Amino acid sequence: MSEPFCLIGDTTPGGILIEADHASARVPDDIDLGIDPALLRDHVAIDIGVAAIAELLVQRRGFAAFMGNVSRLVCDFNRDEHGPAVAPIASDGHAIPGNALDHAGHEARLARFYRPYHAALADLIDRMQPSLILSLHSFTPQLASRPDEARPWHIGILYNRDRRGAALALDHLRQDPALVVGDQQPYSGELLNATMDRHAEARGLPYVGVEIRQDLIGHAGGQAEWAERMERLTRAVQKALTRDAQIGLSTRAAPG
Ligand SMILES: [Zn+2]
Repeated sequence: MSEPFCLIGDTTPGGILIEADHASARVPDDIDLGIDPALLRDHVAIDIGVAAIAELLVQRRGFAAFMGNVSRLVCDFNRDEHGPAVAPIASDGHAIPGNALDHAGHEARLARFYRPYHAALADLIDRMQPSLILSLHSFTPQLASRPDEARPWHIGILYNRDRRGAALALDHLRQDPALVVGDQQPYSGELLNATMDRHAEARGLPYVGVEIRQDLIGHAGGQAEWAERMERLTRAVQKALTRDAQIGLSTRAAPG
């Protein structure tokens, strides 16, 4: 474990890499966000349930997990380096006074957390050459700032320009009639997909961007159920990608 990230599981080349930017609620002792500590259990600080699902998945064959090791209120890794949201001054109606940083303070957050996190992730991907990346997030059923907005999806699939993994994931999930599946929900990956844009799309690596509703995975039973579902999903997508690649090869090799 390092200060900005945590890497667990099997990093053998060709495996599946789980990538979870918001897995932790940790705030280093020397950083004072100026908030009620209870807020660190809230969705504004952490993607509830995600670390537990990743820990269950890496017990299975061929999974590694690279996870954020500080709260997104300390450093939001799934944001553009040059934007203010890396250290948000407010989130879902809560002010984060300790993030009213001057230029040097902002630069210090980037140097201590953001840049080493993304450099380590890039190194890992170069080494591991994963066959698939699972970008794992969770979302609150209800935003305090938008109480009238219904968020009925159990799971949402997010993507930007590379839709290979998303299309296969949506096909797979829609086979289960009990699941309410969101396509580009609860928000669109065309608006926010920073970590996958940088590490997957820029390399042409297939990925599945997932948002799971937090009330479903806030307890051990739900975490086990969704780890299982994420294993089936990623293995199905991985298999379909291999099949599609082989069809592509044989088509190109065909005479005439
Ligand atoms: Zn998240």
